[in-house]
Amino acid sequence: MSSTPFSAPRVFLVGAGPGDPRLITVRGRDLIALAEVIVHDELANRALLDWAQPQAEIVYVGKRAGHHYAQQAEINRILVAHARTGRLVVRLKGGDPLVFGRGGEEAEALREAGIAFEIVPGVTAAVGVAASTAIPLTHRGVSSAVLFVTGHECAEKSGTAVDWDAVARVKCTMVVYMGLKAARTIVERLRSAGAEQDLPVALVSRATLPDQQMVVATLGTFETELLTREVPSPALLIIGEVVRQSPAAAAALAALAALEA
Ligand code: SAH
Repeated sequence: MSSTPFSAPRVFLVGAGPGDPRLITVRGRDLIALAEVIVHDELANRALLDWAQPQAEIVYVGKRAGHHYAQQAEINRILVAHARTGRLVVRLKGGDPLVFGRGGEEAEALREAGIAFEIVPGVTAAVGVAASTAIPLTHRGVSSAVLFVTGHECAEKSGTAVDWDAVARVKCTMVVYMGLKAARTIVERLRSAGAEQDLPVALVSRATLPDQQMVVATLGTFETELLTREVPSPALLIIGEVVRQSPAAAAALAALAALEA
């Protein structure tokens, strides 16, 4: 996974896992303990910094909503500048660095600057949510494919790069990252693209953390359910029949169906 075989990497793009600090990899934890500089943002659990050496420099590069693009260039510059001091730099990123984590952009910036790096995978939010809710992402006879899609563009006025009509037709488990703000729009798009009204939806907030919350509904009842319960970010949407495999979700869906009957 190193960028070049001849120079030892000085920058490590490390997946921090979905929330619970114990879900980082052993390699990730070892690197935090060795790091001389740690560059982190709000998604990586701060408890992970407890493993850092007391003299390690901790650099926070949390993004403010709406300032994504300008700030990514700044983060890239920060990584390159710290790497050039010759210190061991860990860039700690929520979940996996290469799943909606812009790790690819950071890798590109390092490559362009001629800095050797290594990427350490992490448990991505979809996988964390699946484990902590017992919703399987695939299930024999129920879903043979899973799609990770961003809902971020749906929240913007300027249209979307995601073809939601096509997504609705694939009939696979859909996991929507960054979809909290646009959740209603996404559900509406899937419905108008012909997705079944009774397709289950689980909105899971702060998965794997002690205050995890799950709101369960169907495409048809989603707005009403969401109106009655505000959930904090980060949150992920899982849409698909697999949601029924979770006993808690199945109970919530049965209660909803009883209310409607
Ligand atoms: N690289 C990260 C994703 C970054 S995009 C990963 O692999 O997980 C940020 C989105 O991830 C959030 O908007 C949310 O949809 C999701 N997310 C991250 N942590 C989460 C958590 N603990 N619970 C629910 N969703 C989470």
